[in-house]
Amino acid sequence: MPPTPDKTFRDTCDLLVIGGGINGCGIARDAAGRDLDVVLVEAGDIGGGTSSASTKLIHGGLRYLEFYEFKLVRKALAEREVLLNLAPHISWPLPFVLPLSEDTRPGWLIRIGLWLYDRLAKRTSIPNSSKIDLRRDRAGFVVAAKYKHAFRYWDGWVDDSRLCILNAQDALARGAEIVTRDGVESAFPSDDGWLVVLESGRELYARKIVNCTGPWAEQVAQDVLGVEDAPRLNLVQGAHIVVPRIGRQEDALMLQQPDGRVVFVLPYHDRYSLIGTTETAIASPDESGATDSEVDYLLDAANRYISRPIARDDIIAAFAGVRPLVLEEGKDARETSREWLLHDHAGTEALTVIGGKLTTYRLLAEAALKKLYPETRAWTATTRLPGGDIPVVRGKSARDAFLIWRAALVERFADYDPDIVVRLANVYGTRAVLMLEQGLGRNLGGIFETELDYLSAEEWATSAEDVLWRRTKLGLSVEMATVTNIESWFAKSFGASYTSP
Ligand SMILES: Cc1cc2nc3c(=O)[nH]c(=O)nc-3n(C[C@H](O)[C@H](O)[C@H](O)COP(=O)(O)OP(=O)(O)OC[C@H]3O[C@@H](n4cnc5c(N)ncnc54)[C@H](O)[C@@H]3O)c2cc1C
Repeated sequence: MPPTPDKTFRDTCDLLVIGGGINGCGIARDAAGRDLDVVLVEAGDIGGGTSSASTKLIHGGLRYLEFYEFKLVRKALAEREVLLNLAPHISWPLPFVLPLSEDTRPGWLIRIGLWLYDRLAKRTSIPNSSKIDLRRDRAGFVVAAKYKHAFRYWDGWVDDSRLCILNAQDALARGAEIVTRDGVESAFPSDDGWLVVLESGRELYARKIVNCTGPWAEQVAQDVLGVEDAPRLNLVQGAHIVVPRIGRQEDALMLQQPDGRVVFVLPYHDRYSLIGTTETAIASPDESGATDSEVDYLLDAANRYISRPIARDDIIAAFAGVRPLVLEEGKDARETSREWLLHDHAGTEALTVIGGKLTTYRLLAEAALKKLYPETRAWTATTRLPGGDIPVVRGKSARDAFLIWRAALVERFADYDPDIVVRLANVYGTRAVLMLEQGLGRNLGGIFETELDYLSAEEWATSAEDVLWRRTKLGLSVEMATVTNIESWFAKSFGASYTSP
């Protein structure tokens, strides 16, 4: 059992993690489990940066094979199996259909790519790829009749913002302090590490610092840590749109575009499809937001393939995130490697983390800790994340075991509407049991008071936006009245100290 969380404020720590995206949360969890005294400081909400605006795939990255990134793809494919076991309530294998078209990559090239993709790493929960005839296959209902053939292959899906939260929760449970909504303003080298000043004025000493501020990393290295060797970033925005579900089948679509890019259409929370992404160079992470031309690009990209076209009026939500890529002179965003870089700042006890993928965050955390604390040992590959401790079923994948467990939960709590039990299990995993046992309290329009108690006490939620868009995706479906109810609930619970963001 992890030790009881210590929620007191530290004035010293071994390791200060700046940034509560997936990389910061992953490093904080790993470090706390190695008995280091860790403080993580996040300027906004946990996962509020790029890590809630990704395409949400746990994937090797089929298209990176085109750029001969075999090492990266192999590493990510092996990690796909590991991650699918750690939190089976928020992650699962997902089939992809890749229609063949005459004016894009030839079928034989894709066949070779998929042959490699199937074999680059060991698989236990992911099936083989296969060629399909769209005139006979279920995917033929969604794809326009002019496309006759396709490949079906498998990758993984994960709820990105919840993955951050689960890592932060486990870091806390293992003794880390997690500070949200208080950025690191400045840090000064001292005899024994760093004197760190937060925006709130709080000061603390940290022996080492790891800068995990994603798209802000260059700026933070330069302006907050004051180092002269800040790494150079290439900031590339990716936009997504959410529309009503395109087809009922479980397949995602991987759609090749005439410009050589690929766009995904993914099943998203039962009733929706998520379409993304673009690659648009931007100058500052604070400028991000889906542009009109990106939205047009995504609509065209989907309409090029699907049988029932979609239009601007169908869009329910749009969001954009910024890839913090390592600057490689002379390469465009598509060609730039998704490998991470761990950048030591000469003469200081500080490391800046850049690049990487959601898929490889756990490996990145291990690599960072190997650099910072070579004497400590890796442990996170098999230890499940909070809520992911579903009983193992022999011969079944972690996801199938979750589905069996969830069906039993619906039976056990037969007094509840089964849709509610399923939703809570999908979001909170085994932690839903306590809520159901305790009773859910008032229904505030699709979300319950007990959930809000839990989200504010255990998941650092402080607003309707945190709750509806990052802790859950209920924002896609609830009425405006629910937003007002949640804001009133926070105002009542936190009194005068509460200000709506
Ligand atoms: C459009 C898009 C799609 C993607 N899709 C996928 C995918 O499908 N699969 C995959 O594996 N990867 C994907 N990625 C990559 C992945 O999302 C990123 O690599 C990852 O989220 C980066 O996480 P991070 O922790 O480095 O940065 P972030 O999540 O951006 O976290 C940085 C945090 O630092 C905080 N911060 C900044 N300044 C300060 C300060 N002074 N003090 C304290 N905190 C500060 C910010 O508030 C922010 O929360 C995608 C990326 C993009 C942009």
